[in-house]
Amino acid sequence: MIIGSHVSMSGPDFVLGSVEEALGYGANALMLYTGAPQNTRRKPTTELKIPEAKARMAEAGLPMEHLIVHAPYIINPANSVKEEVMDLARTFLIEETRRTAEIGASYMVLHPGSFTTTDLATGIQTAAAQFNAIADDLAPGVTICLETMAGKGSEIGYQLEQLAELLSKVTHPEQFGICLDTCHMNDAGYDVTDFDAVLDAIDHTLGLSRLKVIHLNDSKNPRGARKDRHENIGFGTIGFEALHAVAVNERTAMIPKILETPWVAGHAPYGIEIEQLRTGSFSRDLLTELGHD
Ligand code: FE
Ligand code: FE
Ligand code: ZN
Repeated sequence: MIIGSHVSMSGPDFVLGSVEEALGYGANALMLYTGAPQNTRRKPTTELKIPEAKARMAEAGLPMEHLIVHAPYIINPANSVKEEVMDLARTFLIEETRRTAEIGASYMVLHPGSFTTTDLATGIQTAAAQFNAIADDLAPGVTICLETMAGKGSEIGYQLEQLAELLSKVTHPEQFGICLDTCHMNDAGYDVTDFDAVLDAIDHTLGLSRLKVIHLNDSKNPRGARKDRHENIGFGTIGFEALHAVAVNERTAMIPKILETPWVAGHAPYGIEIEQLRTGSFSRDLLTELGHD
């Protein structure tokens, strides 16, 4: 099982610290943001202890493909309303793929964006046009993994057909993959408890080979709520059994599963959640003792 969580990436050890944090959870994969997800301030990659992080990954026997980068939320490729948002989406995406390549990661997760005051079709068209405008400037060797969204607000990409339509409009489809988020798919209306049916649907619309990353989260909301609020594994509407079935599904055995579940009363839950998913046995007590209701 290739499993880990999102981890922090902050001083003094930066990416090396991210790898150490993940190893401390018993993880063999991890996901990090290259800086605060809500802003564009970034440290030069030369200061991020990247060679040390790579050495630590190698020492622990983890291939660099198990280190995933998540692009910040301020990138909105579907926005066609504000010139400065459009400019930022292009310039920051170029820089972020370059940072991802410098870190040594292969996969960069990206939210396809929100159409704001236009409409879904315009949002999809805009995102494709934005990607096409910078296709030649993106770092080679980095696959942009468009995340399946919950459909809150004016998000695009909450149905597989929308992602397929977007990819049908890009000039360099080989630059793109998909990141499946179980909470988002549940909230968008998919029945994640029948994971093989979800994989079949992905295969029919996008091709299963496009699936590169799985975000493994429970959801605070019922199926179809279009909310996007993550819950700890086994505490939400999807439930432990279904999420464990995702984690052990043979068709996705080689795909990194990344937990983005909430911290519990100031404690990272990931060591406990990873252990429970590996063993297949769940007890609420471990997180309720930490302070979960
Ligand atoms: Fe995300
Ligand atoms: Fe996610
Ligand atoms: Zn989410």
